[in-house]
Amino acid sequence: MTQATDAATTQTALRLDGKALAKQIEQELSDRVEAIKQKTGRTPILATILVGEDPASATYVRMKGNACKRVGMDSMRVEMPTETTTDELLTKIKELNANPDVHGILLQHPVPEQIDERACFDAIDLSKDVDGVTCLGFGRMSMGESAYGSCTPQGIMHLLNHHGINLAGKHAVVVGRSAILGKPMAQMLLNANCTVTICHSKTQNLAEHVGRADIIVGAVGVPELIKQDWIKQGAVVVDAGFHPTDNGGVGDIELAGIESIASSYTPVPGGVGPMTINTLIRQTVEAAEKSANIA
Ligand code: NAP
Repeated sequence: MTQATDAATTQTALRLDGKALAKQIEQELSDRVEAIKQKTGRTPILATILVGEDPASATYVRMKGNACKRVGMDSMRVEMPTETTTDELLTKIKELNANPDVHGILLQHPVPEQIDERACFDAIDLSKDVDGVTCLGFGRMSMGESAYGSCTPQGIMHLLNHHGINLAGKHAVVVGRSAILGKPMAQMLLNANCTVTICHSKTQNLAEHVGRADIIVGAVGVPELIKQDWIKQGAVVVDAGFHPTDNGGVGDIELAGIESIASSYTPVPGGVGPMTINTLIRQTVEAAEKSANIA
């Protein structure tokens, strides 16, 4: 056995710590927010729209507001009743688009079922689409043009890049194809020169696809659907899922003991989750900088 092989078998996987990175980025963002305030005399604002009373959505919106405060930004909380119509929500979004004090708009998903969510997402002005939810933003991002990326996959890319994970030429397998996660994730990895396979609920032989991945992204919303013994030795393992349990929580991938298989992995919790809100805040700061003509 060569020395290199010895090293590989005893190597401990790199933990891609999203919580630590998010904290570090928040410190940098605080300085950038301060610079915007100095130049413009105004505090950057993220408008958050919550329609209805879903407790989980209310918690997410509160967490986003708290993250704004931590970096010195304000959030404008817009709360609308469950019976809100598409037209009423569109009117509110247009009002926020026209408000020069608002730099970013977040429409919390999901909205009540009578609302045309896609129409409302697409009504958000591209310059304020800091959550990366519009079709136009997705299309531009896919074409390699400037646009804010959907926050969870953009946060994952940031985490991978920060840790110097080599992406070019690697085979990435994304399990899940939602508009906010799987699809933009696949496009971002493609833009980073990965060869990308997208799997979904109709995919046959999921285990075989996962087994060929140099980079595996779990984005399915099913606890530990992706089994550890499917994963290739040395793979980069990214788990976007979070399902609370008595012991804290599990992701969409079986992670217990993954250190002996993966070359690097995102822990659950503390991996992808903190990077999502961090990306929303970072992109809002960028939008405020653009509006203040700060390069
Ligand atoms: P989603 O909209 O429910 O989409 C789930 C995707 O997984 C769909 O494309 C679905 O395929 C696919 N899928 C479901 N069962 C499958 C199976 N048995 N085999 C293969 N594919 C399967 O979920 P999402 O919003 O993308 O979220 C995915 C996960 O990420 C969840 O665990 C969620 O909690 C997490 N998430 C985390 C954050 C964060 O901030 N950390 C943000 C967003 C989401 P079809 O398209 O064929 O139905």
